[in-house]
Amino acid sequence: MSTAIFPGTFDPITNGHLDIARRAAELFDHLIVTVYARPTKTLLFSTEERLDMAKKAFQDWPNVTVESYDGLTVDVARLKGAKAIVRGLRVVGDFEFEFQMALMNRTLAPEIESVCLMTTKEYYFLSSSIVKEVATLNGDISGLVPPYVVTALKNKIHALGDEAAERIKMITIRD
Ligand code: ADP
Repeated sequence: MSTAIFPGTFDPITNGHLDIARRAAELFDHLIVTVYARPTKTLLFSTEERLDMAKKAFQDWPNVTVESYDGLTVDVARLKGAKAIVRGLRVVGDFEFEFQMALMNRTLAPEIESVCLMTTKEYYFLSSSIVKEVATLNGDISGLVPPYVVTALKNKIHALGDEAAERIKMITIRD
C-alpha cells in the first residue's frame, strides 16, 4: 500500500488545500494530512482548532486521515511508512521554498520523495493568509473555504477583537 503525507499549517484549511489533497488521494492509497502543531503565537487558530477543521473537511474521504505532528516532517513520514511528502505549488516564491525543503528532506531521508502538485488555476491566488486578511476586513470568503471555516473565522476574529489584527499578517494593505 502506498502512503503519503500532506504536511502544512492549515491556518485555516482552504479550498486550495482541499484541491491538492483530493488529487494526491488519487495518486496514493492512503493520504495522511498532517497538521503542524506549532505554537499559536503567529497563527490565528490553535492546533486543536486547525486539526478539527481539517478533520471535518476530510470526514467523507475514505483514504484520507488527519493527524497533528511536531518535529521533523521526514520523521513523521518515516513513522507512518509514507513514501512521499506532498506539497502544493502556486507561485514562483513557493517553488524556491519547496525546492530548498525538498532537497533538505532528501538529505535527511533519501528514501522519501517530495511530490509537488501544481495548483489549479482557480486557486492560484488562494492562501490561508489572504483568506484571513479578507475575513478581517469583512470580505466575502465563501467559495474559498468550506462553510464551517467561514463561521470559525468570523467567530475567531470577533472573539479576538483588536488582537486579531496582530495575529494576521496584512498583505494587501500597506502603509
Ligand atoms: P505551510 O505553512 O507549511 O506553507 P500551508 O498550510 O500554508 O503550509 O500549506 C500546505 C501546502 O499546501 C503547501 O505546500 C502550500 O504551498 C500548499 N497550498 C496552499 N494553498 C494552495 C493553493 N491555493 N494551491 C496549491 N497549493 C496550495
